[in-house]
Amino acid sequence: MVFRLKRLWLFFYVSGSLWVLWLINNRFRGRSFWLTNDSTRFSRTVRSMLQLKQELQLFLRCNVGDGSRALFWFDYWTELGPLHMLFGSSGPRSLRIPLTATVSQAVSNGHWNLPPVRSEIAETLQIILSTMPVPSAANSGDVYLWRNQSGGFGPSFSSRVTWKRIRDHSPSVDWYKVVWFKEEIPRCSFISWTAFLGRLPTRDRLISWGLSVQPGCVLCSVADESISHLFFHCSFAAATWNRFCGRYTASPPVSLAAVVQLCQRIQGPQAPQAVAVLKLLNQIIIYSLWRERNARIFQGLSSSQEAFFRVVDRAMRDRLLSLSRTTVPAPSPTLLELYFWFLSPYS
Ligand SMILES: [Zn+2]
Repeated sequence: MVFRLKRLWLFFYVSGSLWVLWLINNRFRGRSFWLTNDSTRFSRTVRSMLQLKQELQLFLRCNVGDGSRALFWFDYWTELGPLHMLFGSSGPRSLRIPLTATVSQAVSNGHWNLPPVRSEIAETLQIILSTMPVPSAANSGDVYLWRNQSGGFGPSFSSRVTWKRIRDHSPSVDWYKVVWFKEEIPRCSFISWTAFLGRLPTRDRLISWGLSVQPGCVLCSVADESISHLFFHCSFAAATWNRFCGRYTASPPVSLAAVVQLCQRIQGPQAPQAVAVLKLLNQIIIYSLWRERNARIFQGLSSSQEAFFRVVDRAMRDRLLSLSRTTVPAPSPTLLELYFWFLSPYS
């Protein structure tokens, strides 16, 4: 595995070599690595490279200079990760940026050139882009970096660090399954994924980027806003976790890692379904808290705690009802029945 990853590193890092040019022109038919799918027509070596796209995201980053090489949708060049994973197949249409575009194609006259935002994902991307230097032809080229010992990224490959990280099983893999799963709601997965990465633009982060905003949490008004406060330590959030997870856990989770542990701890014959309900609850609570926070900041609208419980409950019922319609025959107990079981001490 380490050797295969090293081959990928060389592919990205030594981009001008004859081997790389030969691969792109002859094997990938001029297309980028990211846009080439695994196929039996390739040699074992090429297939082993294409099959590691997912793992590569843990190790490879692109530092954008002039933006002429990094692919807008596929390279890991913003802190949101590869953008095609977030925006899905409708991304190129909604942002009016072709699937094969480089980052420089999202720039015009020295500014990011994106259409007015129509979704939370697009809004988050624009906030993050506003903190990044705009690529320019005056800059040097884009540079690929590999994960280094300190957890950052640098211009060299270390077999030891790479091996150790694979062996230790990066913690991001644990929560990956908590965020992306069959019963997910994509817009909620996106917000919780960004929260797990620590990359939602909460007020503490906006301030660290030099933006002039109030530091306080708009849900409780007693502490400063950060990801861990907003989603767990805030009294508004803790009451929500208690209301919906009280049956599973004596005290509400205090961090995203605690949610992952809770999912792993559930045992018994119905564990897989119960975990699915819990994962859905997790992403709906996080998503709804983020929306409530945004509504208070941007629209001056706020829900009471009780009204907020109803928002979470409605989202859970809608999703679980739509799932029970698509599963034939519905297994017993259904996810909806399990959810009611979660709630029964209160309803
Ligand atoms: Zn708060």
